[in-house]
Amino acid sequence: MIITLKPNANIACVDAMIDELESLGLTCQTTMGKHYTVVHVIGDTSTYDAKGLYAYDCVKNVVRIQEPFKRSQKADEQSKTIIRVKHVTIGGDDPIYIAGPCSIESYEHIEETAKIVSESGAHILRGGAYKPRTSPYDFQGLGREALQYLYDAAQKYDLVTISEIVDHNDLALFEENVDILQVGARNMQNFTLLKALGKTSKPILLKRGFGNTLEEWLMSAEYILSHGNPNVILCERGIRTFETTTRHTLDIASVLKIKQISHLPVIVDPSHAAGRWELVEGLAKASIAVGADGVMIEIHPEPQRAFSDGAQALKPTRYTTLIQQLKRLSKAIKEK
Ligand code: PEP
Ligand code: MN
Repeated sequence: MIITLKPNANIACVDAMIDELESLGLTCQTTMGKHYTVVHVIGDTSTYDAKGLYAYDCVKNVVRIQEPFKRSQKADEQSKTIIRVKHVTIGGDDPIYIAGPCSIESYEHIEETAKIVSESGAHILRGGAYKPRTSPYDFQGLGREALQYLYDAAQKYDLVTISEIVDHNDLALFEENVDILQVGARNMQNFTLLKALGKTSKPILLKRGFGNTLEEWLMSAEYILSHGNPNVILCERGIRTFETTTRHTLDIASVLKIKQISHLPVIVDPSHAAGRWELVEGLAKASIAVGADGVMIEIHPEPQRAFSDGAQALKPTRYTTLIQQLKRLSKAIKEK
């Protein structure tokens, strides 16, 4: 961390600031330049609230060198987290494919979808049981019974499952029934939930909040990592911009940026970004092209009858064709 002092800074103020930093085990080296004096702070400053230094009247500017997301940051070019769930590897050499309905509507519905997912060659079955809907009047999910349906359908087709947890009190229920726990965009900064998820060893898929920066997203991952769970998968699902034609704006650059700064796997959900099924295939291809570790796509046997998000659900035949294209694309990208 580098602190630039104001010209003619009060010596007593500078001494008090240095005393505080050194009392925390940090070392301060002062360099007097032609125009400014700077204090180099050496040591682990990741847990230090750098902005608090502006409370000292002698401080002109503070620049952090160390990232605050110390557990999720990439130590070196090679470092990457690989997560194994049953027979599925996330963050390995090949992208993973997650598909399923927005919400689980009945056992027959999720069983039919599980069959499609399995036959298409996808790896993970998604399905919402607890739906955090913008309107309290919209379908809220079937809850506990839907988790049982998801479990049974996945068993039948030997699929790994993912479902969104919205309440930390449901952790034991999810641990029993679901393989990967999803944190939705609206709960990315639900710190009580994140801390609770640090206590399980189940992988957590952490969606990016639609109004959050990459740093905030990684700091949310830090809550899970620092509470003991190293198995975090990031999921870009679009952010809110001034554009209203699409439901959200898919921040495809975030995948590249996250790959540069973090060792955590990152996948893309083009369905919630697009809001319309016509855009999903193109965005999924773009995601694989930039090196995402997978894509999660909403599908429905009959989108026009879906209880939620029917407009963005792909029909089974389209999904089956898409996944073949994505696998060819991924292979082509890997060829040197
Ligand atoms: C979902 O995946 O079911 C969902 C609600 O997505 P998001 O949290 O990204 O809106
Ligand atoms: Mn949905």
